[in-house]
Amino acid sequence: MATEAELKAAGEKYIPKDYDPALYRLRHSLAHVLAQAVVEKFPQAKPTIGPPNEYGFYYDFELDVNPSPGDLEWIGNRMRQIIKGKHAFKVREISADEGRQLFQGNPYKLELIDGLAKGGQDEYGNPSAGAATITVYQQDTFTDLCRGPHVPTTGDLDPKGFKLTQVTGSYWRGKSENPMLKRFHATAWASEDDLKAHLARVEEAERRDHRKVGRELELFANEPVFGSGFPMLLPKGATVRRLLEAFITDYERKAGYLHVYTPDAAKKELYRISGHWEHYKDSMFPPMDLAEGGQEWDELCLRPMCCPHHIQVYKSKARSYRDLPIRIAELGKMYRYERSGVVGGLSRVRCMTLNDAHLFVRPDQVKGEIAGVLALMKRAYADLGITEYRFRLSKNADPDGPPSDKYVDNPAMWESSTTMLREVLQESGMPFFEAWNEAAFYGPKIDVQVKDVMGREETLSTIQADQHLPAKFELEYKDSDDTPKRPVMIHRGVISTMERMMSYLIELYAGAFPVWLAPVQVAIVPIADRHFTFAQKLADDLLEKDYRVEVDLSSGRMQAKIRDAAKQKIPYILVIGDKEMEANAVAVRLRDGTDLGPKPVPEFVALLEKIARSRTLGLVL
Ligand SMILES: [Zn+2]
Ligand SMILES: [Zn+2]
Repeated sequence: MATEAELKAAGEKYIPKDYDPALYRLRHSLAHVLAQAVVEKFPQAKPTIGPPNEYGFYYDFELDVNPSPGDLEWIGNRMRQIIKGKHAFKVREISADEGRQLFQGNPYKLELIDGLAKGGQDEYGNPSAGAATITVYQQDTFTDLCRGPHVPTTGDLDPKGFKLTQVTGSYWRGKSENPMLKRFHATAWASEDDLKAHLARVEEAERRDHRKVGRELELFANEPVFGSGFPMLLPKGATVRRLLEAFITDYERKAGYLHVYTPDAAKKELYRISGHWEHYKDSMFPPMDLAEGGQEWDELCLRPMCCPHHIQVYKSKARSYRDLPIRIAELGKMYRYERSGVVGGLSRVRCMTLNDAHLFVRPDQVKGEIAGVLALMKRAYADLGITEYRFRLSKNADPDGPPSDKYVDNPAMWESSTTMLREVLQESGMPFFEAWNEAAFYGPKIDVQVKDVMGREETLSTIQADQHLPAKFELEYKDSDDTPKRPVMIHRGVISTMERMMSYLIELYAGAFPVWLAPVQVAIVPIADRHFTFAQKLADDLLEKDYRVEVDLSSGRMQAKIRDAAKQKIPYILVIGDKEMEANAVAVRLRDGTDLGPKPVPEFVALLEKIARSRTLGLVL
């Protein structure tokens, strides 16, 4: 039998690699304290599992009542009492039979004990290797099946560092054929200050949530009849997208990219050759059998990526070493089969348009071309106001981890491509970090990682060096000595998919787009009917100069009209009354409420032009 110290030490290995160990221990411990309080409040409640999660923990109970806010308050107060009792978390090893005795009447714990006894399952019912030691932890009067780890005593928890947030429904083991349980959610931190900071971040994230802002600013909408994951862009959202597309394709043209249009669909044969069918099938929509040709490989697939399509562009004529590099670009529409439960807003969609390009280059050009892509990326990010990002070298499966069939099997290729990307990053002088298990199936990547309001990292842009697809498709160019050589393919997306970039920018700016991207740049507010003609004429003049203008000819009051325009985050609001009309001037208000006072019309137009052209976030010079 292991000692208590040995059992406690053994629990430490269950802390996930990316999780702060102190937070993991305290959240795990608080889950037990919560369970004790819940069972005291509702003696009929049957505890199931209660693991830590991203910002706290949850605990699922079989419970036949809906806890009221008053019940939650009671539970929170009782938890604070238990914490102040400074009860030790005591562990002991038990046999399966002892466990069955201890948890009799709780079918969930009995199922977990069976899984532990049989082996192959851990205490959460997840697959694990070998039969486990069965341990229980006790604090105060409450005993739970648990492998740890915990803090030494409840006194090590901050009674003001946690908050019960809500109770939702959830199926046992997440399966809808199982009983519905009550999930108690809590966020938990080391101190009251940390908790407050977290709650402030949550509030800010809700304020900036692109789904909320997108609705308020009429940027996009989800219609059930389209199915989930297929949002539609409303006129204002479509304007932002058109501007983003023009912005990036302009930069690409100047950097020597050639833009193409290739089909959204292709025969399954294409993805058989590329390997997408073998490695990426789960993310593809089911193929369509149009009974054309009658063979399985004649079925039609919606494309999951553009790479094999751009390869056809490369292959459309013979290439010589002098032609390379060839940079093929497309705002390419792609389709990904995502479960309906995970799609939402613009950030997780089933059809997306990627700012895609494939560079076909000679081996001696790879590094220079990747450096060129990095430079393009930095310029684009600066213009978009994205200042906080870091580079990640994304590699294939960790050699020390479990084997993976996600990646093509070619160790020499992985080695040389990864080394090449690492050298480019080192030579660029930009800080980067490396991560296993984040590569594309055909090669390693450089990913650009940005953070959202909650501090969560996501990938916005990628660069990949690929020697796999050129071999699969037998790509060639004629070298200077007339022999056929194989090009290297660089895959890259600079501003990500249009959908993801839009959702990111909406949250970054909280809907207040810089002037060059604002769907409406100027709102004109005439005070009375007699100013309508002047206002309309000014709007027409600005439209003629390619600015985006709205003129409010409704009968509303001036203050209300100004408020509406500011709520729509329109950068400039121009008020027109008698004095302004007489002087060919406008009274300029900014969306944040700043009053710039009257300005002659030509002066305002000059300001607008300078601000829009400089792509600055500011509204004044
Ligand atoms: Zn525990
Ligand atoms: Zn590609």
